[in-house]
Amino acid sequence: MKITINPNAKDAAVRDALVAEGGFGKYYTDHMVICEWTEKDGWAEPELIPYGPISLDPATAVFHYGQEIFEGMKAYRQPDGGIALFRPEANARRFAKSAARLALPEMPEALFLETVETLVKQDAGWVPNKVGESLYIRPFMIATEVGLGVRPTNKATYLLIATPAGAYFDPSKAVSVWISTEYVRAAQGGTGEAKCGGNYAASLVAQKAAAKEGCDQVVWIDAKERKWIEEMGGMNLYFVKGKGADATVITPKLTGTLLPGITRDSILFAAKDLGYKTDEVMLSIDDWRDGVSSGEITEIFACGTAAVVSPVGQAKSAMGTWITGDGQPGKITMEIRNQLLAIQHGTTADKHDWMKRVI
Ligand SMILES: *Cc1c(COP(=O)(O)O)cnc(C)c1O
Repeated sequence: MKITINPNAKDAAVRDALVAEGGFGKYYTDHMVICEWTEKDGWAEPELIPYGPISLDPATAVFHYGQEIFEGMKAYRQPDGGIALFRPEANARRFAKSAARLALPEMPEALFLETVETLVKQDAGWVPNKVGESLYIRPFMIATEVGLGVRPTNKATYLLIATPAGAYFDPSKAVSVWISTEYVRAAQGGTGEAKCGGNYAASLVAQKAAAKEGCDQVVWIDAKERKWIEEMGGMNLYFVKGKGADATVITPKLTGTLLPGITRDSILFAAKDLGYKTDEVMLSIDDWRDGVSSGEITEIFACGTAAVVSPVGQAKSAMGTWITGDGQPGKITMEIRNQLLAIQHGTTADKHDWMKRVI
């Protein structure tokens, strides 16, 4: 990999002050990675360069037809001061799958991992120290062929940037959700399983509708029967049935329209390790309402790389409003959240070999 060090990299004191501010996506590290692909020559050698704007012809394909994919992953500070990535191979695999769906070139997993490790090593000083904080890493790829003809691109650019992420979890606040029966996120045969910007562009109007209903987030249901729960905004959903050691932790089944979250997958293992039964199910809006009113569903939470685990409280839909629990995060929700964070920060055994040391 070619390396060009940023001559204007922030002083350690300035950088540490920015990292200490917390927040998310406000500041970016001193460097980024860029790697070009052409149909003719394949992938070029990646380059680590100073973070900064890129210049593109206004007729570049991505601006017109949205041929773009991305990933979201994190690097965590370890007790000995080192840094480790959480399941980066899973992000590499998913990135290649998303690429295939969007007719973009599949980046070899080893190349993807090399770019991530190089950037994290170079900008290690930007990885926060406290539990719950991390360096959020955003790999993405855009179609860079110039021209307005609609066709799969013969040129693509991969970019990698990173931003410190503070601990923005507020345990006193459960997320309220609007179950959208008007808009859908994904249909069979569509791009629901791919992590592409277009899915998000199409979701924003529903997010607006949720806000208008006084809700924080939108919950998506299936496109065909308009009754099966899929996911929440950019996160997967979990439901806890029962209480204590007999509880079952369930999540909507991957039907081909849900985004297969790496946090979702990890929780299936982590919940089992904590002694709970787990299941992947078809869960309808009625099941949600009836489960909450009978008391069978005791806790609900959403999960994803950015927030790890977020408790869900009030659900509102065209069919009414119902509330889970007492508005406080559930016991099992917090137990699972703490277990994942302990693995990520290296304070408990990593029995599934999820952590990959960078330093
Ligand atoms: C990224 C994403 C998730 C969560 O995936 P993780 O790998 O756990 O971060 C869930 N749903 C959607 C729509 C997403 O884009």
